[in-house]
Amino acid sequence: QAKSKGKSAYAHFTPEMTEVSQDRLQMESRLRRALELKELELNFQPIVHTDSGNLCAVEALLRWRNPAMGLVMPDRFIPLAEDTGLIIPIGEWVLEQACQAAVRWKAVTGRDIGISVNVSPRQFRDPGFPDAVMRTLADCGLAPALLELEVTERLILDNSIETAEILRRLDRAGVRLSVDDFGTGYSALSYLKSYPFDTLKIDKSFVQDVMKEPEDASLVKAIINMAHSLGLRVIAEGVEEEAQTHFLKQEGCDFSQGYFYSRPLPHQKFEEWLESNERVQA
Ligand code: C2E
Ligand code: MG
Ligand code: MG
Ligand code: MG
Repeated sequence: QAKSKGKSAYAHFTPEMTEVSQDRLQMESRLRRALELKELELNFQPIVHTDSGNLCAVEALLRWRNPAMGLVMPDRFIPLAEDTGLIIPIGEWVLEQACQAAVRWKAVTGRDIGISVNVSPRQFRDPGFPDAVMRTLADCGLAPALLELEVTERLILDNSIETAEILRRLDRAGVRLSVDDFGTGYSALSYLKSYPFDTLKIDKSFVQDVMKEPEDASLVKAIINMAHSLGLRVIAEGVEEEAQTHFLKQEGCDFSQGYFYSRPLPHQKFEEWLESNERVQA
């Protein structure tokens, strides 16, 4: 009896769905071993001052190189890492690697170069998160103000006291906080005045069509003005063409990031980019 009941409970699974969940299980067991097998790596993408094009900070972007799957992009495995909790150890690794990289760049260039790290909601809500951040900064010897944590509006949506408290704690420690993919979430704007954010990152979907769609241009202008009147800095994401840089300059967007300046680069390539960039700026 139990058997037939079990069978009917699964009767709505189609063969395709079973395949999907098997793929997922296989990916999960691979992801579990990714850290110890050293299959994860960070790419680095410059964030520049819009006016001068000079380097200001760098965003760390995670990649997973698996022998069976090739190069796996974060959109394909971060959700799985979140669901399974693997994002906690993975996130700590990312934070460590990113902070160490920033310390190295300071040694190479003699300049302060900020590092931006993406933090997913699950990671952020982990009780050990703020301490892990402080410990990593202290261990690496990186000034807190050089670390920017990027969160999305998804995190704000839960509207919890814990989230607000963690944001405040990190802010008091001098870490910078930014809202990633700004404009794509569903939250009310009121969180901007009550949470200690420093930066808004305008989502690339608005930036990409800024020269083609007057509505997108209006939205980008409005976001820049709103951010500035709230005392926030603005980064435009997904800048791919020179014309966009002129628009963003004219509208007073503080910082820009996108393929126009550089794609995300593996650390060796990024350090080469950094060296030639420093020569140009010197
Ligand atoms: P994000 O934080 O919004 O990162 C920006 C994404 O836009 C990156 O995709 C980047 O490669 C891409 N991008 C940069 N410039 C351009 C451009 O000019 N044009 C276009 N079309 N795209 C551009 P990526 O590396 O695939 O990362 C996707 C998302 O995965 C990130 O979006 C972030 O939400 C998440 N992610 C990446 N690394 C991490 C990580 O270490 N931890 C967590 N929790 N999430 C991460
Ligand atoms: Mg980001
Ligand atoms: Mg702050
Ligand atoms: Mg983004």
